[in-house]
Amino acid sequence: MIDSDGPMRLDRYLGLCLGHPQYGYYMARQPFGEAGDFITAPEISQAFGELIGVWCAAFWQAMGRPARLSLVELGPGRGTLMSDMLRAAPAMAGFAEAVEVHLVETSPALRAEQKQRLAGATWHARLDTVPAGPMLLVANEFFDALPIRQFEKRQGQWHERVVGLDGELLALGLIAAEPGQGGRDGDVMEVSSARTEIAGTIGRRLIEHSGAALIIDYGHLQSAPGDTLQALRRHTFVPVTEAPGECDITSHVDFEALGKALAAAGAKVAPAFSQRSFLLAMGLEARTAALAAKADAATRERLQRAKTRLADEAEMGNLFKVLAATSPGLAIPYPFAEP
Ligand code: SAH
Repeated sequence: MIDSDGPMRLDRYLGLCLGHPQYGYYMARQPFGEAGDFITAPEISQAFGELIGVWCAAFWQAMGRPARLSLVELGPGRGTLMSDMLRAAPAMAGFAEAVEVHLVETSPALRAEQKQRLAGATWHARLDTVPAGPMLLVANEFFDALPIRQFEKRQGQWHERVVGLDGELLALGLIAAEPGQGGRDGDVMEVSSARTEIAGTIGRRLIEHSGAALIIDYGHLQSAPGDTLQALRRHTFVPVTEAPGECDITSHVDFEALGKALAAAGAKVAPAFSQRSFLLAMGLEARTAALAAKADAATRERLQRAKTRLADEAEMGNLFKVLAATSPGLAIPYPFAEP
């Protein structure tokens, strides 16, 4: 494609690397776990999904216990988060009976894996086809996987990073970009219309029907320049131009931009904060202790280690952020604060 059409914009390149129907990274493989390329919070401890399930159940109660509720997950991976959420659902009487599970997933390989754990769910390629109605939506490490564009300021001019050819090999290069406002030489700016678009769809749904969205990902609370694009292959960083379709390529989520896109569509957005604060406020210590009380020594050790990994400042606790958005008429739920 580059040979015939010239240098390719990064968002197109990333979209193909991750989502090409035949060669895309997510399409044919199962990338999670120690043997894969990366590991995510739900795969570290069941407590992660259980606490999110409790948050959803409490919000359903605050919504006035609607008789039917779409519980939607974007990018469910192996289905672990949703199955842990559903395990916690009976803690609130009536919640499990009201829930209808909708999974938004493009990968056939991952859909097959999800089907083994979540037999009663309905699958969608896009959020748009999830039926209208009261909704609770969760997304963990979904937004980081959506394509971005990168702009770089050099000698007073903004340029766009593109993927071109250096002989036979792929290489990053720069083309002139529309003159942008501000910035200093060396700054890199990232924008993602894919993220903004989905945030807009979520926001509009929260206007039409009551509900909330809980978005968890690695990223920053305030928009700031920086190059956060990264490719991971078997737990090792590699250049994004290496082995296209065989590496997990992601970038940090700009939670300020995400919050603005949700708010612009009409949702009420609570200030985001760290995964550490969220999990500790939701009872990670108590849940870990309850699980440990019934476990053997090796499992107790694993549970403690998982808690540290999820919540410690030096591990996932601070890098990961949690954002909640609700329908405008609803109160922002614990542990978030009103905007
Ligand atoms: N939430 C899971 C998986 C994170 S990986 C976890 O925490 O373990 C990203 C997930 O999003 C994968 O399931 C991937 O197939 C899916 N995905 C990536 N891009 C997508 C898109 N545009 N539409 C729907 N699903 C997508």
